[in-house]
Amino acid sequence: MKRTVSAPGFTTTVIAIGGGLLLAGLLGAAIGQTLLCLTLAALIAIIVLLVRVYRLAVTVENNRFIPDARYERLRMRSRRLSLQLRDLRSAAAALPDAAVLLDGEGRIRWFNHASEDLLGLRRPQDRGVPLIERLRESTLGPWLESGAREPLNDVPAPNRPALRLGMVMMPFGQHQRLMLGRDISDLMRLEQVRQDFVANVSHELRTPLTVIHGYLELLDPGEQPELAPVIAEMRVQSERMGQIVEDLLMLSRLETHQPLQEEHVAMRPLLATLRKEALALSHGRHHIELQERTETDLYGSVRELHSAFSNLVSNAVRYTPTQGRITLIWERTEDGARFTVEDTGYGIPANHLARLTERFYRVSSSRSRDTGGTGLGLSIVKHVLNRHQAQLHIESEPGQGSRFSCLFGSMRLLKPVRMDA
Ligand code: ADP
Repeated sequence: MKRTVSAPGFTTTVIAIGGGLLLAGLLGAAIGQTLLCLTLAALIAIIVLLVRVYRLAVTVENNRFIPDARYERLRMRSRRLSLQLRDLRSAAAALPDAAVLLDGEGRIRWFNHASEDLLGLRRPQDRGVPLIERLRESTLGPWLESGAREPLNDVPAPNRPALRLGMVMMPFGQHQRLMLGRDISDLMRLEQVRQDFVANVSHELRTPLTVIHGYLELLDPGEQPELAPVIAEMRVQSERMGQIVEDLLMLSRLETHQPLQEEHVAMRPLLATLRKEALALSHGRHHIELQERTETDLYGSVRELHSAFSNLVSNAVRYTPTQGRITLIWERTEDGARFTVEDTGYGIPANHLARLTERFYRVSSSRSRDTGGTGLGLSIVKHVLNRHQAQLHIESEPGQGSRFSCLFGSMRLLKPVRMDA
């Protein structure tokens, strides 16, 4: 740190000496001794200046050799900080994750060794180059071009295609951004094993269950009335198991990353089917209403969307007591369209909302089982919506009812924008 030494009164001294010389000149002229008076005045001025220079030198010496406590503290702190900075930089450089620091314009300011290995960045030529320019042709190109606002999971590493990366872009410092790329190949392999296992088990269970179900249908409770309640219970349970297996297979299919079947999803017939299904499930116990506020259709998989919407409808029927009201609404939003299922049912306490879409997560297990639930319905809804780049919004008030909304972006709409009345 540079310290400055002030010289208070220096200007005043110069003015005083100038004034003194002038006065001495005038006085000398008055008494006829101009040269003598001026010489004397000059001598006095030289002495004064020498004294000032000496005092200045002493001040500088004092500052250099006896630093004040604050100056010393600042010096130590600055040293400590620069050491910490050096450690941090070496730690970041040694990270197994790719880390790239970008400036406000998206140009590469700094990157670590893993970025060279995983992303193919080169030192020093890539410093200062816009990242998008450098990686446009790579697997990360579309993500970067779309602004990298959401994390990107399971993408081949640009420089090591056999490895899978999880990418995230976060704000950093002032107008800077930090891009992190994590090698998640092992995690993805485990995930694949899990998916295959669930799919295989479900598939293997399907055939024996169909056989058991078939035989149970053949049993006539009338022939052995004492076994009638047992047979009825066995039928209910075998049907439930069958439904769980079907839901697990549906989830496995949704997880396989197979390309989405892109087709015209005509909403009018789909909504009519959903209403019919709700009426059939309700057996007249609820007031069911369909509000079709737009004629907009969707673009996506008819089968998947039907499955997701009917899960929401069936939940509304199952978790709404008799005489309750269920409303299905299809409407335009500012930037897309929304399918909503509203009910006046039991509602869900707020602390459960965040976990509802997890597999087998239930607010009340007994209520779910009693109404034939598998605990997989909302998981299916979430997966289907993800595949359609749509979102699930859940609002609920215990004792008042729930509202489940599926929000679709404008790219999923088939008809031109037409504002509803
Ligand atoms: P389930 O087959 O058990 O209904 P879901 O995944 O469809 O499984 O739903 C998970 C849980 O969310 C349910 O067990 C239930 O507790 C709660 N839930 C879902 N929909 C509603 C609703 N409309 N009203 C109240 N609770 C609901």
